[in-house]
Amino acid sequence: MCDTIKPRIAYIELFFNKGDFLMKFACKAATRGNARCRNMVSDLGGLCSTHSEVPSLVVSDQPDVVLYKTNVNKNWSKRLKELGVQLKNPDFEAKEKKHIDHAKRFGREPFKFRGEIADSGVPVFGKDGLKEVSLYELLQELSTIYNVVDIHLRPTKPGGNPHMEVLVVSFSDGEEFVGNTDAFQELMRFLASSCWGHVHVWANPPQDDGRIIHTVNSAHRQDGAQPKQFVGFDDGRWDVQPVKVLVV
Ligand SMILES: [Zn+2]
Repeated sequence: MCDTIKPRIAYIELFFNKGDFLMKFACKAATRGNARCRNMVSDLGGLCSTHSEVPSLVVSDQPDVVLYKTNVNKNWSKRLKELGVQLKNPDFEAKEKKHIDHAKRFGREPFKFRGEIADSGVPVFGKDGLKEVSLYELLQELSTIYNVVDIHLRPTKPGGNPHMEVLVVSFSDGEEFVGNTDAFQELMRFLASSCWGHVHVWANPPQDDGRIIHTVNSAHRQDGAQPKQFVGFDDGRWDVQPVKVLVV
């Protein structure tokens, strides 16, 4: 009788930069205007020196809307358009002005993080964001919490890569747009085998109507690479976990 060789199964935790001393994260507290604090701390989920002194701490709110944005090449945008995704043409100048005004209304420096691009929010995973990331788990999680209310394409910003378009997916408690179901499934298949070179999550201050929008941006898809970490939603405070690889 032959001996059966049982496969040796082990999970390996790949290198992962959650506690990396080089990384900085946004303090998890909410400011008086209900925006996530812009101060950076060394621990994910930590508090800045100002907020660790506050006796009745308010933690930043779960967003009402999460926008996922990623660059897609022309082949991909063609495929998505075939599935009914529309191309929209935003007024970039007006949007930029809106970001500047929004930042100023909250007493914030619009160019604090990206120099020439205005932001009113804070990059939750620091200025450099996360590297070698899978977003499949996150989008799956978001689709259980929110509805996918819109998927559209737009051109890249002026000065951006003209061979790419930007895919924008909106998650909120609004009405699910069933016309996008096929496109969303196609996107999930794409994300299941995608490793992103860079992922940024931005927590923005409330809009005029009080609604809070967070954005997740992914860039530089690495063909054939194995992601080392994935992003968790954590009620809008955001988290990152190592990808565990099954070794047989
Ligand atoms: Zn703080």
